[in-house]
Amino acid sequence: MSFRATVLTLYPEMFPGHLGQSLAGRAIERGDAIIEAVNIRDYAHDRHRSVDDTPAGGGAGMVLRPDVLASAIDAVSPEDDTRPRLLMSPRGTPLTQARVRELASGPGAVIVCGRFEGVDQRVIEARNLEEISIGDYVLSGGEPAALILLDAVIRVLPGVMGNAQSGTHESFETGLLEHPHYTRPQEFEGREIPDVLISGNHKAIEAWRQAQSLELTRERRPDLMDRLDQKAK
Ligand code: SAH
Repeated sequence: MSFRATVLTLYPEMFPGHLGQSLAGRAIERGDAIIEAVNIRDYAHDRHRSVDDTPAGGGAGMVLRPDVLASAIDAVSPEDDTRPRLLMSPRGTPLTQARVRELASGPGAVIVCGRFEGVDQRVIEARNLEEISIGDYVLSGGEPAALILLDAVIRVLPGVMGNAQSGTHESFETGLLEHPHYTRPQEFEGREIPDVLISGNHKAIEAWRQAQSLELTRERRPDLMDRLDQKAK
C-alpha cells in the first residue's frame, strides 16, 4: 500500500518540489508515495475567488477563511478517510522522528498549508486539524514545512532507503544524536581518521560510536538527554 499525501495549498506548483528528486523522487516514481497538491482557491465560493479576509478584532495581515478551507478539506478527505489531517503551524506540536515514523506507518496524510497570518481557528476545531510545527521560527507559508515533513516521512517508508540498516542508528532514532562519520582519505589537512575506526575491531568501533553519541548529545542537546533519563525512570 502506498503512502498518499494530499496537500492543500495556495501554491500547488511548489509540489512535489525537491521531493521529485533523489530518494523521494524514486519512491514517487515507484508509487510507494503519492503526493497530490490541491489548490485551496478552487474551493472559493465567490466570483473573485477570495480565500482570505481581514482579521476579526483588527491587526495586520489576512486570515484564511474557514468556509473555503472546510470545502477544500471535505472535497479531498471524505468522512471515511482514515488519514490524519495536519495543519502546518508554528504553534503546533514540534515534529519528532517518532511522529514521522507513526505517519509513515499509516495510509498517508491530508496536509493544510497556511499562508498570511494563518487560518481561522474555527476550521482547525471543526475539521480536527492536528497542528504540527517544524521548529521555533516563522516561515512565510506552510509549503516548505509540508515538504520537510513529507521528506522525513518518505525516507523511512519501507523499501525507500537502500540499506535497510541505515536509519535505525540515526540521530533521534535512538533518542541520541548520531556519532561523527569519516571516509577516505586517511589523512585530510593533517587530520587522521580515529584509529579505532580502522582497527577492524567491530566491538570497539560500536563502543566508540556509542560513547561519541552520548558525548555529543550531552554537549549539544541536554534536552534530549533529559528526555532519555526520564524514559529510563
Ligand atoms: N501569524 C502566525 C504565523 C503565520 S506564518 C503566528 O504568529 O503564529 C504563515 C504560515 O506559515 C502558517 O499558517 C503556517 O502554515 C506556516 N508556518 C510558519 N512557520 C511554521 C513552522 N515553524 N512550522 C510549520 N508551519 C509554519
